[in-house]
Amino acid sequence: MDEFELIQSFFINSKNQTFSEQKNITLGIGDDAAVFELTAGKQLVTCVDTLVAGVHFPEDGSAADIAYKSLAVNLSDLAAMGASLHSFTLSLTLPEKDELWLKSFSDSLFELANQHRLVLVGGDMSRGPLSVSIQLNGVVDAGKFLRRDAAKENDLICVTGHLGLAALGLQEYKKGKFKSQSAQLRFLRPEARLEFALGLYDLGVRCAIDISDGLLSEIGHLCRASKLSAKIDTGNLLVHQDLQQLSSIDARELMLSGGDDYELCFAVSESALSAVEQWAQELALPLSVIGGFQKQGNTMIYEQSGAPVAVAGYQHF
Ligand code: ADP
Ligand code: MG
Repeated sequence: MDEFELIQSFFINSKNQTFSEQKNITLGIGDDAAVFELTAGKQLVTCVDTLVAGVHFPEDGSAADIAYKSLAVNLSDLAAMGASLHSFTLSLTLPEKDELWLKSFSDSLFELANQHRLVLVGGDMSRGPLSVSIQLNGVVDAGKFLRRDAAKENDLICVTGHLGLAALGLQEYKKGKFKSQSAQLRFLRPEARLEFALGLYDLGVRCAIDISDGLLSEIGHLCRASKLSAKIDTGNLLVHQDLQQLSSIDARELMLSGGDDYELCFAVSESALSAVEQWAQELALPLSVIGGFQKQGNTMIYEQSGAPVAVAGYQHF
């Protein structure tokens, strides 16, 4: 198969194409670029994330897991914006033409994309060390998106789900055996909090971030952007039962600094909290309130005791 045939065989998915009309896509795969119509009163929200073999997923990872995670991490970015999903492009760099690999990669990719009616509108393929780059488009009603710089003094800090599972998954993967199924699943196939996030703006939430590089690092981003400091009580974080077998120091480290969980961290006013909690409950999504934003202080994050917390998240450079 030549490059064109590969695209035809693996990236033109008939089910996926059926969503084109409903997403107002004028021109999808096959031309020099994709064209779609923007609806009046809507804004385009776009993001891109590249995943590199050996950095973001195991070198020997399965094609299906790699595809899933590459799309899922982008879904999480749009969740953090409170956007609904529209379309995506895929840039794929492969060491060799491996049709079996491409088949399971594209099957997995479209399984997740079709679940969200998310249309693949174009991409690129080249030869080189394995990496997957996905650019994702979403939409919001004009002005109704969540941002990092919108936390207010006295807002509470909320976190969805259980943290530290992906980091535990990575540890177990390195040791050669997954003991915790939840950790394995979170590490290989993270689940973006899209549905929950979509309801947040109308419940009064304005400020959110997804947890990709570790909770403290993300709270640091919110503080810096919103020009506030945070006071947190890490004892309020929900500890997943598979982390309970670890020493409390290890569990704490995974929950506060472990990456790749793709949960959401957001600011909510005291008056909006109960509606947000109810929304989480409707979706059976655990939620914890772990602190609040304040004006005072030179450092960014403080413990309940007043002691400053050192922030160490994942950094590429
Ligand atoms: P060009 O040389 O103009 O970039 P290509 O030959 O790379 O065009 O791609 C042909 C068409 O196939 C384009 O519409 C492009 O968006 C699409 N395409 C290329 N690679 C992929 C891919 N991995 N997934 C989906 N569409 C792709
Ligand atoms: Mg090209």
